[in-house]
Amino acid sequence: MSERPRIVLELKGIRRTFRQGGVTLEVLRGIDLAVQRGETVALLGPSGSGKSTLLHIAGLLEKPSEGQVIIAGQDCTRMGEHQRTLTRRHRIGFVYQFHHLLPEFSALENAAMPLRIRGEKEKPAKHLASDILKDLGLMDRLDHRPARLSGGEQQRVAIARALVGKPDLLLADEPTGNLDEKTAETVFGELVAMVRNFGIGALIATHNIDMAKRMDRIVALHEGRLYTAASTE
Ligand code: ADP
Ligand code: MG
Repeated sequence: MSERPRIVLELKGIRRTFRQGGVTLEVLRGIDLAVQRGETVALLGPSGSGKSTLLHIAGLLEKPSEGQVIIAGQDCTRMGEHQRTLTRRHRIGFVYQFHHLLPEFSALENAAMPLRIRGEKEKPAKHLASDILKDLGLMDRLDHRPARLSGGEQQRVAIARALVGKPDLLLADEPTGNLDEKTAETVFGELVAMVRNFGIGALIATHNIDMAKRMDRIVALHEGRLYTAASTE
């Protein structure tokens, strides 16, 4: 396996069906997508169109009913759970709509967590995390627990946590969907700038077209299929 393949996410023929009470729901009906290193791709689609399902599959949190997921050149289709977990830990950063920070830990400890889980020492892990938090304007909030941060600050800590390990791929599921309009715009801008700065490939779900337009490329989910909506250049 080469260390830095050009394509960080490749989805091939992804299908996902849910069976519920005798009814089969075909949420994804054959999705193909490639995200290049350093490229930001917006995933548009109305509520219920399958954005979260697609991101969970790309992030190795769920398995597709059919199809292949290739992360930074590694085919994850036949990987066992342990290997999937390691790939997720080392290759992928995830930002959810709700911050999912650990309430008992400080902003700094939360942001450093992925490096600690990888087994890195406390001091260098915190050093890296504090650099990112400072870039996000949180230098005075490092010791605050999540409950003592504003919504925008909490989401910035979640962004720092997703990026601290310099993943190949960032996946974000409506990362500013829970913030007021003005804060959402600022935080979204910071996220895109930071991802570009680090040269990370990103797939970010949003239903806000203005935010999507700030990214390199837009794809849209409609009735289980993915369409190229526009180039934003
Ligand atoms: P989005 O993120 O675009 O709002 P989702 O991926 O959350 O869409 O959901 C897409 C569709 O799949 C919805 O109709 C939802 O009800 C259905 N769905 C998602 N997860 C499950 C599940 N675990 N079991 C059954 N149906 C599901
Ligand atoms: Mg969703």
